Amino acid sequence: MAKVAHPAPTLEWDTPLYQQALTQLEHALELADVPDLTSTRLRHPERCVIFSLPIEMDDGSYRSFPAYRVQHSSVLGPTKGGIRYDEAVDLGECAALAMWMTWKCALLRLPYGGAKGGVRCNVRELSMNEVTRITRRFTAELAPFIGPQLDIPAPDMATNEQTMAWMMDTYSMQKGYAVPEIVTGKPISIGGSVFRHEATGAGVVMVIERACSRLGWDLATQRCAVQGFGNVGGIAATELHDKGARVVAVSDISGGVYSPAGLDIPTLHAYVAQHGSLEGYTKDVERITNEELLELECDILVLAAREDQVTGENAGKLRCKLVAEGANGPTSNEGDRILAERGIPVLPDILTNAGGVTVSYFEWVQDLGRLFWDRDEIRRRLADKMSDAFDRVWNVSQERGISLRDAALVAAIREVSGALEARGVYP
Ligand code: GLU
Repeated sequence: MAKVAHPAPTLEWDTPLYQQALTQLEHALELADVPDLTSTRLRHPERCVIFSLPIEMDDGSYRSFPAYRVQHSSVLGPTKGGIRYDEAVDLGECAALAMWMTWKCALLRLPYGGAKGGVRCNVRELSMNEVTRITRRFTAELAPFIGPQLDIPAPDMATNEQTMAWMMDTYSMQKGYAVPEIVTGKPISIGGSVFRHEATGAGVVMVIERACSRLGWDLATQRCAVQGFGNVGGIAATELHDKGARVVAVSDISGGVYSPAGLDIPTLHAYVAQHGSLEGYTKDVERITNEELLELECDILVLAAREDQVTGENAGKLRCKLVAEGANGPTSNEGDRILAERGIPVLPDILTNAGGVTVSYFEWVQDLGRLFWDRDEIRRRLADKMSDAFDRVWNVSQERGISLRDAALVAAIREVSGALEARGVYP
């Protein structure tokens, strides 16, 4: 009988996206001056769990959906990070995103490590009932691995307040009492925080505003293009519009709309609320593709769609003066290198989109204390956290002559490393 070939095993999560996260880490480690323990421990996720979810479809058939949860580091506290529903979800993507969550939480000085999970599925092809069943079954399977002091999920791509409500309910039904602190990004009616929904997009604009002031630019005169019109890009576009900036282009999965005179963002939101996407919107705009949006002439390009958008292929064609990463990992390492050569600064993801997890932290603290803060208080606390992190990153970047991404990673790695050294390795 023919023997089954066994190629040299690789680590299961070691995909191109994980390599991107690892290459960033290796580069930052050269600059961070941290002990061997730190680099050895943080190159790999602490725990990866793979599930297959059996789901009854509306037509009575059954399908099995692959699902994942990766916990990268629990040195600073419980792990934290979103759950995404997307056809590209795999172990390596979750591991890369979990590592970025570790850096993001550490940079913002939140008492958390990083995690990420998701289900490989296309929500546009599923009914609401099917998505409910996927979410509830996933939560039941996740139950031994999550907990308010262990790992706290949140929304990410194609998940939202409703998804979190089903997760909170499923977990609570198993416990026998309401456990609002098991997830963040919940509806306000069950212990969610005011301003959590807007937090990521609002945080992106807080970082852009601070960068503009350091660069001596007036935000109100900037022309902005925003890739992504969902949880992050949709809010960022509104905040930019409200602050008087000219949002010249936005896009979603159906493509983009462009108007050099500036788009009417509230009207676009009303259209999307009615039609589900920007598809078919043509009034006073030019229809463009997502690729064309990236190459438009503008001042600030906000990447708020998904990973791997600015790469070695198109980084040379960008015509903006500043890139802001609202998504996680939207710029490949090659893209980053080209932008650096061209002198286009990149406001890195682990800083720029950290508003979401920061208000998630506020939500968790409020849930644990059963005491709720108002919108002004949360916005003020978020602005304090974001500007403190921004200033630390900016100063390290200026003092050491390194990119904002490297400065953010160095600052984050040092936070984790300090805790790792103090705790040591068990036993
Ligand atoms: N999914 C979001 C992120 O990538 C939020 C995570 C959270 O709030 O825990 O930062």
